[in-house]
Amino acid sequence: MSQADPTGDSARPRADLVIRDASQVLTCAGVPYEVGLLENAWIALAGEIIAAVGSREAVEAAVDCAGAEVIDARGRVVAPGFVDSHTHLVFGGSRVEEYAAKMTASDPAAVRAMLEERGLKTGPMATVERTRACSAAELLDSAAARLAGMLASGTTTVESKSGYGLSTESELLLLETNRALCQSSPVDVLSTFLGAHGFPEDMARDAYLGCLIDDMIPRVAAAGLAEFADVWCDDGYYTAAESRRILVAAREAGMEPKIHADAYSYIGASDLAADMGAVSVDHLNYTPRSVMGALAEAGVVGVIMPALDFAVKHPRPFDARAMIEEGMTLALATDICPGCWAESQQFVMALACRSYAMSASEAVWAATRGGAHALGLHDRGSVTPGQLADLQIWGVPTFEHVIYRLGGNVVDQVLKRGRVVVDRALKAGG
Ligand SMILES: [Zn+2]
Repeated sequence: MSQADPTGDSARPRADLVIRDASQVLTCAGVPYEVGLLENAWIALAGEIIAAVGSREAVEAAVDCAGAEVIDARGRVVAPGFVDSHTHLVFGGSRVEEYAAKMTASDPAAVRAMLEERGLKTGPMATVERTRACSAAELLDSAAARLAGMLASGTTTVESKSGYGLSTESELLLLETNRALCQSSPVDVLSTFLGAHGFPEDMARDAYLGCLIDDMIPRVAAAGLAEFADVWCDDGYYTAAESRRILVAAREAGMEPKIHADAYSYIGASDLAADMGAVSVDHLNYTPRSVMGALAEAGVVGVIMPALDFAVKHPRPFDARAMIEEGMTLALATDICPGCWAESQQFVMALACRSYAMSASEAVWAATRGGAHALGLHDRGSVTPGQLADLQIWGVPTFEHVIYRLGGNVVDQVLKRGRVVVDRALKAGG
């Protein structure tokens, strides 16, 4: 780096990798929902960071590209890596029998009876039981397999919640699994403590609330196991008052609040998110329009999850258009969990566009930069100089193909921190 440079170019940083001649680069650099489309563009990477983006001339003027590795992106699209800001990635077993039974029986009691005959429990408590029965290695292996699928579909940053343990020991193990996933995968895994995902069957409500606040939160904080804390505030789950107590304690311990809000009722969860200035407010099926305005005002990012609503056949779809019109910043996330086994943000985007009237541009922005906002991250989610080189290259000529090719995977390559970590470009027989 310090070698004498007779051409006088020594001030230019040296590129390690150059992506050249991309048909389209989606920079997602500006205000919400603008994809910032560049055509026939180059991107130069230096180490983990994006060094320059733009025309060949602009990039070569800014960065010394001689000797850099080259990826030819002719006929292809480059986008920021997806940021999946709401997942329940770590859990034991599956609920495939329950999901399959629901396809032909819409009455939950009938599904429960049908499965009980086969000796199978249903619902989240079935997952709590299966999760508690898993060893640390089993939890890690099953979550790692899902995470690999997410990475192959273009996701480079993931938020992962606890919440299927509902005991101090088990919740800590789930958060430790998040840490192990982050260390063993190229994907960055941010961790959220969601002990308030439900109430365990083996403890009284008040006792569990005390356990959350006086035992779990201090121990999670002391071990540095979570960036965020979350609660499920809804009819039948935590009240707004209980949610506030939990989130205030978590914030004092250093965890920023997120809220599962208004998914199945409106009991003031979204108001609480606006009032507390939560990092994100997630679900929002029953959120009144006036509260959407307050959330926009407070800068709380709305996380919407079309795959979850699809998987549960939600009776009241969220209103993405109203949220956008009220000025909210939105993120799209998979909500992968045993009730919604969705690994692909591409699938989520296709649903967001067709079922929720989002444009392809809005969907791309919300699945990348929007996700970064929902995690308070400012170093990723756009293709601009100085950002992390978390990128995906799609084997399609224009970006709208990502919402058009239903149920597929347009990803050719994924780069994480400047390194190619997925390469699907060499097709079978090619
Ligand atoms: Zn969730």
